[in-house]
Amino acid sequence: MLLLLMHALDGIITEALFSEYASTLNPFMFLRDSFGFMVIVGIGIAIYRRIVMKVPRLKTNPMDSYAIIILAIIMLSGIFLEATKITSHTRYQEMVEEYADTDDEEELRTLESFWVQNFYIVSPTVKGPFKEEILAQGAEIHDMSCAGCHSRPGSAFTGYAVAKIIKPVALGLDRANMPTLLWYLHFLACFVGLAYLPFSKMFHIFASPVSLLANAVMEKGKSDPTNIATRQVMELDACTHCGTCSRRCSVAVAFYKTGNMTILPSEKMVFLKDYVSNKDLDEEALRTIQEGAYLCTNCDRCTVVCPVGINLRDLWVNVKEEMIQKKRPVPLVLSQLSFYRGIERQYLDSKDYSKPLDGSKKAIAAKCELINRPEKIIPLTPVNKEFKDKAETFSQATTFTYCYSCENCSTVCPVVENYENPQEVLGLLPHQIMRSLGLGLSDLALGSNMLWDCVTCYQCQEHCPQGVKVTDILYELKNMAIKEASL
Ligand code: SF4
Ligand code: SF4
Ligand code: SF4
Ligand code: SF4
Repeated sequence: MLLLLMHALDGIITEALFSEYASTLNPFMFLRDSFGFMVIVGIGIAIYRRIVMKVPRLKTNPMDSYAIIILAIIMLSGIFLEATKITSHTRYQEMVEEYADTDDEEELRTLESFWVQNFYIVSPTVKGPFKEEILAQGAEIHDMSCAGCHSRPGSAFTGYAVAKIIKPVALGLDRANMPTLLWYLHFLACFVGLAYLPFSKMFHIFASPVSLLANAVMEKGKSDPTNIATRQVMELDACTHCGTCSRRCSVAVAFYKTGNMTILPSEKMVFLKDYVSNKDLDEEALRTIQEGAYLCTNCDRCTVVCPVGINLRDLWVNVKEEMIQKKRPVPLVLSQLSFYRGIERQYLDSKDYSKPLDGSKKAIAAKCELINRPEKIIPLTPVNKEFKDKAETFSQATTFTYCYSCENCSTVCPVVENYENPQEVLGLLPHQIMRSLGLGLSDLALGSNMLWDCVTCYQCQEHCPQGVKVTDILYELKNMAIKEASL
């Protein structure tokens, strides 16, 4: 962003802000190379993560590849352009003709010697080593004619490093008019990049800061729904497709089973863009998006880790609501929508609160008669009432009743993360232990190795969106298990 404003738009922005601006003067020259270097490091990291590290769940779509290729061409052509301009004798002569305060042959030769020595131009006629007095004389002319708009090229450290490498072939490159050719390539790539920008993920350069700003000033529950909708559209463009959310998603494991990419939040964002832009999506595509949205447990983990601060959970909930309003059939699964709306109840209009829920219920009830007969609940296993009552006397105990199985506690747990197949080693995971408590399943809750492997780091407790005191409860369960064993 800074490179675009400071370098590409220097005639409009930088010159207006700094009257003494020249692209070959410090600090501008150093800053331009520093920003360019950061972009190159970013491109390097993006390629490294995809090709060498093969980060799990990091998907590369054609848009990512085009963006990386265009950026790489812009940056590399820019650096090579800078390097060939540094070494170009032709460019040097053009500058001398335009700006030198002398046309004395001998004086110009001393100036050229000074530039060969200090500015790294490669001259076909003037070569070092030079005598001290020649360099001193050249320095005097340099100070008079050139120093006002030329800092030493070492500050343009990326171009300077390449200039050193190409020095043996610099004269040939200069004769082939390479600086001009690279200039055209650089500008062409920049224009292609600019034309592609609104359609590419690179639009996040603009959208991310605006989205972050909007999030900072908007108050949850108090903002106008129209403003929220505008912010959410912006958030779709603000996503950098970094894949961080997918790495942390509580239900990402379902993606490996079903192959539905829209389960992964980063991919869901890509599909959502198509959905909100009213692209002609066929039934299959709509069903895929819907499945991805409904399998989400609303654990909020993706929102917490998103570096751009996108309110992902709100987006998923709104997609579900929107689909219900459009009368899309609700999948025959227990909808987490109800739980999330429960959390948000205080912010919602009471008239609207149950609308999507009722729609959801009706759609499910149409296919499952038992839902209309809640008095006929069939327990899956016998409930140990005594154990359940005892559990409810823990100091923090009743908080387990708030658990809606979002799995966030298990996703953030460092012990769970340690194992490829944690259930094999640990038995029940934290979220399953919370559910077993709710169901009064004592053997399951007390028999899990998780109780003893827990390192009491409190990550689960801190990240629970429902305020369940997970760690404290595990601790109490340990005490209970010891007491039972010693009876
Ligand atoms: S809210 Fe949780 S389950 Fe849903 S997409 Fe985000 S991380 Fe995954
Ligand atoms: S973490 Fe945020 S920016 Fe990265 S892919 Fe997910 S939604 Fe996009
Ligand atoms: S205890 Fe909290 S974090 Fe864990 S599954 Fe239940 S609601 Fe989610
Ligand atoms: S407190 Fe225990 S269960 Fe919770 S995250 Fe830490 S190790 Fe996992």
